[in-house]
Amino acid sequence: MTLEEQRLQFILHLRSKGITDARVLAAMEATPRDVFLDGVFKERAYEDRPLPIACGQTISQPSVVARMTAELELDKRHKVLEIGTGSGYQAAILSRLVRRVYTVERHTGLARAARDLFRRLDLANVTVIPGDGSQGLAEQAPFDRILLTAAAEDPPANLLAQLKPGGIMILPVGQSDTVQNLIKVVKTDTGYDYIELGEVRFVPLLEGIAKDPII
Ligand code: SAH
Repeated sequence: MTLEEQRLQFILHLRSKGITDARVLAAMEATPRDVFLDGVFKERAYEDRPLPIACGQTISQPSVVARMTAELELDKRHKVLEIGTGSGYQAAILSRLVRRVYTVERHTGLARAARDLFRRLDLANVTVIPGDGSQGLAEQAPFDRILLTAAAEDPPANLLAQLKPGGIMILPVGQSDTVQNLIKVVKTDTGYDYIELGEVRFVPLLEGIAKDPII
């Protein structure tokens, strides 16, 4: 199959997995996943699987990316915070759907690579912040939407506090080596509503900046 055919199949597959939101599908169609992968993994970019990226991390499974993006109920006017930039794939998709994206990554090398990619792809509304996102990003708060792409044991209180009233936060909750649950949190006037979206598997949310060897 040519790359073009693979990309067409990819969108049809997402539809078959129940992703019907036309804007989400269009954003995913406009975002080539192979660009976010290295070496041999580029050839597998249009398989519906998580794949390895640098620093021992993973790019998420496309159908899970699509599901999380749809569940965020995005609007063009939104300011969104993502914790866990990784390859930058999810942030690139978000950037096509909202006004502003801030994405935080604890591996400086990944943050730098993602920033270069966003420049190459002309995605001018994404800001990459190298650092520990477990505390959120107080200087840009509050956010309309918050997305964690690393699993926390509980929804971090600091992040919930940085959500606007009516805002939505999506995150995987659970220990890294067990089954995690994707949770949707809606901030109401009186508290929070929690909706379980199903089982997922993500790398853990770790505290502090990663100490990577200098390369
Ligand atoms: N959204 C990514 C998936 C990344 S995997 C993509 O589309 O490719 C999760 C990422 O979360 C990893 O890169 C990991 O380093 C990062 N991470 C884990 N804990 C973090 C923290 N406290 N702050 C920022 N990033 C974190």
